[in-house]
Amino acid sequence: MTALIHSPEYGKHETGNHPENKERIEAIINSVKESEILSQIDLFKPDICKKEDLLRVHTKKHVENIKEICQRGGGYLDYDTLASPQSYQIAKLSAGGGITAAKLVMDGYKSAYSIGRPPGHHATRDRAMGFCIFNNLAITLEYLRELYKIKKFLIFDFDAHYGNGTADIFYSDPDVLYISIHQDPRTIFPGKGFVEEIGMGEGEGYNLNIPMSPGSTTDDYIYMIERILSPVAQYFNADFYLVDVGFDGHRDDPLSSINLDDDFYGWIAAELMEIAGRMALILEGGYNLPALSRCNIQLINGLNQENNREHPLPQDNLTVRDDTKNSFKEIKEIFSPFFEF
Ligand SMILES: [Zn+2]
Repeated sequence: MTALIHSPEYGKHETGNHPENKERIEAIINSVKESEILSQIDLFKPDICKKEDLLRVHTKKHVENIKEICQRGGGYLDYDTLASPQSYQIAKLSAGGGITAAKLVMDGYKSAYSIGRPPGHHATRDRAMGFCIFNNLAITLEYLRELYKIKKFLIFDFDAHYGNGTADIFYSDPDVLYISIHQDPRTIFPGKGFVEEIGMGEGEGYNLNIPMSPGSTTDDYIYMIERILSPVAQYFNADFYLVDVGFDGHRDDPLSSINLDDDFYGWIAAELMEIAGRMALILEGGYNLPALSRCNIQLINGLNQENNREHPLPQDNLTVRDDTKNSFKEIKEIFSPFFEF
């Protein structure tokens, strides 16, 4: 059984006709409620996170700054990140959704998926950016580390953009392995996420970037993920898995040049369940409403395949681009001192 965490309050983070708007979440929730998967999930409301939860990740200055801007009526936090009067509260609710998901997993759910907004993976310790105000996943991780004394975390991020905020926050931390598959940063925001960014100090080797060239398809993604994620996860042996879920790699999405199809989202959910056994998932991007609706159903179906671990896609006969094969060799070479795959 999968738990979904959602609140209609998320609509109060008002962004008008910005691509990251309240209609995204409404599209997802409406499609879930109209689908037969509704009988296979439990719905929960998020708890709002406390200021102390924010401060395990963010600077006091950043938190106060967001609060003050919202009290003054909102505005632009950077050139593409908006806040409305209620955004401080709703950003805390979005982070709280992650925490609620993690707690439900600790209580026995195999998977729990927080469908909230604003998203979080571009937010750094001291800065809002890329539609993100607070880093929902990092706040969830630090909550688990503090309150449940969990030691080792694996984060997998398959949003089309590199989660620069999450990567930066844990860049020197050997207990947090961040693995991100995203569009080649030479061609997309935030212009970071190259293979060579492998972590720093004790965290060297624990930031694993898988950049994909524009035009990459589901087959390219399966090729990379099967060759890298499963062996690395086995070797790292995490105590808890956190997943950043993005739908902007879909071929209908206006914000990336990745060409994933609907079936990818069912496949990745089933693949992750097989690797992790249990995990908390947090929504990031995805901006084409029909694709968001369809692919969320696929994802939730994939999560529910725990008793029927048959992947919805064939694993052989993949059509893989030369770019992808070359990139795999490069990643394998750079990570050879740390992991074998
Ligand atoms: Zn994205």
